[in-house]
Amino acid sequence: MKKITLIGLLLVITSIMIAQVNLDSLRRTAQGDVEAIDALLKTANDNIVTSPRRTIAIAKQALILSREAERFTQGAESANMLGRAYSVLAKYDTALSYFFIAEGFSQRSGDPHQQASTYVNIGAAYTYMQEYKQALRYYARALEFNDESLNKRVYHNTAAIYMDQENYKMAREYLLKSLEISRESRDSIDMATTMNILGEAYRNTSEFSEAQDWYDKALAIFESQGSEYGWVIVMNNKGTLYLDQGEKELALKIYEQALKTNQKLGNQEAEATLLTNIGVVYRLKGNYDRGRSYLKSALKIALENGYLNRVEKALLELHETLSLGNKYKEAYKVQNRYISLKDSLDQLRNDRQIQELQTRFDAKERELALVHSNNENQQLRLGRQQLLLVMIAIILVVIALVVALILNRYWVIRRLNKNLEESNSQIQSQNMRISGNNDRLLRSNKELKEFAYIVSHDLKEPLRMIGSYVTLIERRYKDKIDEDGRDFFTFATRGVKQMKQLLDDLLKYMVVETNEYEVEKVALNDVLTGVEANLLSRIKETNTFLEIGELPTLRGNRSLLILLFQNLISNAIKFRSEEDPHIVISALKDNNKFLFTVKDNGIGVSEDYQKKIFSIFYRVYGKHQYEGTGIGLSICQKIVGLHGGKIWVESEEGKGSTFFFTLGDMEKMVANEDLITA
Ligand code: ADP
Repeated sequence: MKKITLIGLLLVITSIMIAQVNLDSLRRTAQGDVEAIDALLKTANDNIVTSPRRTIAIAKQALILSREAERFTQGAESANMLGRAYSVLAKYDTALSYFFIAEGFSQRSGDPHQQASTYVNIGAAYTYMQEYKQALRYYARALEFNDESLNKRVYHNTAAIYMDQENYKMAREYLLKSLEISRESRDSIDMATTMNILGEAYRNTSEFSEAQDWYDKALAIFESQGSEYGWVIVMNNKGTLYLDQGEKELALKIYEQALKTNQKLGNQEAEATLLTNIGVVYRLKGNYDRGRSYLKSALKIALENGYLNRVEKALLELHETLSLGNKYKEAYKVQNRYISLKDSLDQLRNDRQIQELQTRFDAKERELALVHSNNENQQLRLGRQQLLLVMIAIILVVIALVVALILNRYWVIRRLNKNLEESNSQIQSQNMRISGNNDRLLRSNKELKEFAYIVSHDLKEPLRMIGSYVTLIERRYKDKIDEDGRDFFTFATRGVKQMKQLLDDLLKYMVVETNEYEVEKVALNDVLTGVEANLLSRIKETNTFLEIGELPTLRGNRSLLILLFQNLISNAIKFRSEEDPHIVISALKDNNKFLFTVKDNGIGVSEDYQKKIFSIFYRVYGKHQYEGTGIGLSICQKIVGLHGGKIWVESEEGKGSTFFFTLGDMEKMVANEDLITA
């Protein structure tokens, strides 16, 4: 009784540890979430320019996960990513609504970098929408965080706004700040880009020599970096600089040079700009026909690509050129087109303002609703998970107790049996009370049989019940259980199944040990034909080649011999290597016994385990690698023993195994001493 309490206690502790592991795994899942979100964000970021729609799909998942796991920093990052992807698609309203969600998350996360970059993103979206006042407000907020990695972008964007507002003095101030940062971080492409805009800032105030200086510096950098894309843009501006100074021929030469390089690059926007500018030069030179043809090509490209600003400029210039060339009718048409385009552009800007207010309002509402439902979900989930853990702990404890009962019973009876046999042999040697001991032996055998019965019926019944209830709970509460919960149920069901298998195998073992067997003449080749038929589907499935030699006929028990060969052959198939299984069964006469071999080309057994594998429950590999309970070979050993023989294995790991056993010609079954001590 002491032992059973101890085992029971041990198993209860084990179950509690398992429950603890589950809790740990829940915690680990939270850690896993962070990694999963980071992985999603990385993929999303990699795709943002080449495939913004993919980024959107991925970042949405990351946003949902972050929200569930209450990871605010990553939530902010995901929402910012979504906003940026929508900006790439020029859907600035949607972009803004995500940036506002990011604002909510970043404030809750308290992560200054996320907050600052959210403000920069909002500023940039407003800049695209030409809502400069708002944009400048958000940039100023971003600057308060003094985040070095973001300052450059803020200065740059602020300068762009001042440029657009023709406040060149302010623009230069910010451009120089931005240039300073790029210089410190040795980002030459950024430096050249900023220098180009500085050139623009001076050109617009007619400070031509400063402008030329900045353009030339920018060109030199782009050239040395092999960036033709940037080079074309600066060349275009330089051309315009010459034109501003009345140097038409020089301007034309530079524009044409830029156009030639750009045609290789296929930058449509630059092409539209350059064609427009060349058209203007021809007009200024009085060549209206050529001017018109360039401007028309520019207009076509701008329209095809939806570059509204370019369309506007091309139409204006075309109108001018047509009028100067005395093509009034056409000029009138172009003017009408220009007016209607201007109207719809203004309309678009107005709509945007209204829509932006609405978007901001919607985003806040959405965010509030989310916070609310998030809290509710979180509580519900926690409650359910606790309930589940308790249920699983109870199931585990019940299973543990059942196992403890079986093992204890088995040990007690086995010890009893052994003691009895010992005392029996003593009594035999003294030749006393033989019949009494025989009675006790018989009684103990009877008890063992009863035990086998308990295993097969009494214990299997509650196990079956646990199994059915686990399945029932799972089915009934399926919708209310989350992914983890379903995993727990799978584990519980798998545990019940394994235990059932263990009980079945244990029962087989007990039956071999306790039954009385009839001895008859058995033709082993017939036995193997039967075994082959039993295993036919396994043999076909695994493409096994079974080579059966000439086997003798001997006196023994047919069912036990079938079980013996069947166990050995199934093992040879189960523990097969990469090659198709090839099993050779042969027999040799050795005095009045036969030596049998079952040889396979499987994974083999290393020398350390060759003796141990015949012990009950002993297995070299875990259940996850190979199914089984570790009883098969102990049954084989018992059967061989009952036939007065011995069994052993010779093998080298990776080179197959050969199981040897001897069988004699029996008059009746004998109990083998080795077996009992094995
Ligand atoms: P089970 O097959 O259920 O694991 P067994 O008692 O039949 O139990 O075998 C015990 C162990 O012996 C196996 O787990 C396996 O590691 C090893 N074994 C048995 N037969 C072979 C074989 N033919 N080749 C390699 N290993 C074997």
